[in-house]
Amino acid sequence: MSKDKVTEEYGSLVFTDQDMQERLPKPTYKELRRVIDEGKELNLDIANEVAHAMKDWALEHGATHFTHWFQPLTGITSEKHDSFINPNGDGTVLMAFSGKELVQGEPDASSFPSGGLRATFEARGYTVWDPMSPAFIKDEVLCIPTAFISYTGEALDKKTPLLRSEVALEKQAKRVLGLFGKKPKRVYTTIGPEQEYFIITEDDYKARPDLVLTGRTLFGAEPAKGQELEEHYFGTIRPSVNAFMKEVDDELWKLAVPLKTKHNEVAPCQHEFAPIFEKGSLAIDDNLLTMEKLKLLATHHGFACLEHEKPFEYVNGSGKHNNWSVSADSENLLEPGDDPQDNLQFLVFLAFLVAAVDDHADLLRASVASAGNDHRLGANEAPPAIISVFLGDALTPIVDALIKKEQPEAHDRARMDLGVPALPNVLRDNTDRNRTSPFAFTGNKFEFRMCGSQQNLSDPNVVLNTAVAEQCERFVSYIGEHSDEDFTTAAMRFVRHTFRDHERILFDGNGYSEDWEKEAERRGLPNLKSTPDAIPSIVKPENIAFFEKYGVLSEAETRARYVAKAEQYAKLLNIEANTMVNMARTMYLPAISAYAGDLATSVATRAEIGVDAAADKATVKALSEGSAAILAATDELEAANAKARELDDVAAEDNAYRDEVLPLMDKLRAAVDAMETVTSKDYWPVPSYNDMLFYV
Ligand code: ADP
Ligand code: MG
Repeated sequence: MSKDKVTEEYGSLVFTDQDMQERLPKPTYKELRRVIDEGKELNLDIANEVAHAMKDWALEHGATHFTHWFQPLTGITSEKHDSFINPNGDGTVLMAFSGKELVQGEPDASSFPSGGLRATFEARGYTVWDPMSPAFIKDEVLCIPTAFISYTGEALDKKTPLLRSEVALEKQAKRVLGLFGKKPKRVYTTIGPEQEYFIITEDDYKARPDLVLTGRTLFGAEPAKGQELEEHYFGTIRPSVNAFMKEVDDELWKLAVPLKTKHNEVAPCQHEFAPIFEKGSLAIDDNLLTMEKLKLLATHHGFACLEHEKPFEYVNGSGKHNNWSVSADSENLLEPGDDPQDNLQFLVFLAFLVAAVDDHADLLRASVASAGNDHRLGANEAPPAIISVFLGDALTPIVDALIKKEQPEAHDRARMDLGVPALPNVLRDNTDRNRTSPFAFTGNKFEFRMCGSQQNLSDPNVVLNTAVAEQCERFVSYIGEHSDEDFTTAAMRFVRHTFRDHERILFDGNGYSEDWEKEAERRGLPNLKSTPDAIPSIVKPENIAFFEKYGVLSEAETRARYVAKAEQYAKLLNIEANTMVNMARTMYLPAISAYAGDLATSVATRAEIGVDAAADKATVKALSEGSAAILAATDELEAANAKARELDDVAAEDNAYRDEVLPLMDKLRAAVDAMETVTSKDYWPVPSYNDMLFYV
């Protein structure tokens, strides 16, 4: 798009604030803004007027249907399209859309994962409009972002607890800011998700049942070349991929998704898109839209977009960095600034983050746990499974000095008198980038780097928001208990004690090293390597109480989320195991046998005419032995999978998948991959790593 076209078309498929202002009567618009800006309740009269304006706008933009767009526990988005038509009874129709239809929908909830919540309640589920996230048009459908709840109000989705955690954080942070003499209208989180993905040709994709069914290659010998030349990262983007990226930009800009950066990533065929940050839940909605558009638009260019955390062995997998901060009106509370008073406030919030991450490392770890992400975390390409916090060169000396009760070097007397260290103005540019840290301070925000590329970012942000809310409350209590003291003195002591008590979580070294694993163990930091290790912590009594206390999740909701996650792990591995068994029996074994057969015939023919065929004879032998090994490994895997699937207890089932099924999947893969390297390419039934990674 040309420059003018970009500004003209940006947000053209979104029912923006400007559209609302133009189309709604003034009092209605004002009332709606109060709902959006101040979290006021929405009444049905207003909803009716908004629905009417929204429908007119949607019809003018070619929409024929509407849908409540929501995020069930699968993490991906769901939609059911209803047309606007309303028969007049004389063979003609009216296009209608009521406030009730805008505000509430009733999809059949029975086929979405609920973690057992619906067993105890009714099967009905409702979608409820989230006016904080604007409606938009996608493929002639007006999409209304919604929360998804059960008949009795339990959250059945990813968005509801996120919104609740934002409310909790806002409430507690306002109390803290009140102590600093501030009265912000709104306190909200900001999130900037960096999305990694792979692009391969659609033909290759369709030729691989493992990619189609599971999102990752379950087989594949090591390619002749990997990422060792380090030539792909930030390399020139190939024209074909660039054309795809251009269309992604164009389409997402129309939806007001503020995509800013695009580049090649470390692995061959791996790329990244990063937007400008937005308010928390909106940023997550926009990330989900981005993921959806990436997949769809890739097909326009003969590509397939792979969003799995580990589509290929031997090269890096894909993550999604969750850049996070918290703002009060337009002030970023993690911006160090250079005013002493704000420095104290900054240090208080910095201390909150450090304590929050240390206290809830188990929940943060669980929030990013998935079968896909298990292949990345701790595999020397992503942060380890151990959570730690990196503060960087500029902040570390200050925090160290605070812990040791030393006065950090400061040249400004006024600041020294306050006991508040002067932070260098250049801090933002000064922070080192420690790529190995799972939770790094990067100038004026934290970057949580353990998230998986295909995950919905709500889960980690729910933990983060609630944990920071808890710290805010702790601070307010502390100041209350020390009300006889000067605020600055008490606040500085809080900061110092917090850093001292949570020093174990601070780590600026190489997170990929083995030494760190040992050191972390000495420090008592959890190292939960797999999903079945990580997720049971969700239902620890103290964690249930934690979410309950801040009104984020009830006990039943927390338990349901654990069950849904545990079931998803087992289900995914079951699909992977089934796919492997199927591919081995119907693709690899017949191919190897065909090649061995043809080779054997040729060996026999050559023997008849007295030509030496010893080498090929040896190959035939290797292929036969290899086939036998594959067959045996297939049977073993099938049996182990059947046994795991029979277990009733979800935790036992997950453990069986990790301990019994996964090793046999590795064994079968090794047996097949060994044959790939001796079988003629003409016979091999699927594209190889060399084909897929280097011929886009
Ligand atoms: P990188 O980490 O790749 O070097 P940047 O640090 O420039 O890139 O930014 C990465 C992401 O962080 C972007 O999506 C950006 O919008 C986001 N970001 C920047 N500031 C904030 C903030 N205050 N809150 C949340 N995200 C932010
Ligand atoms: Mg980054």
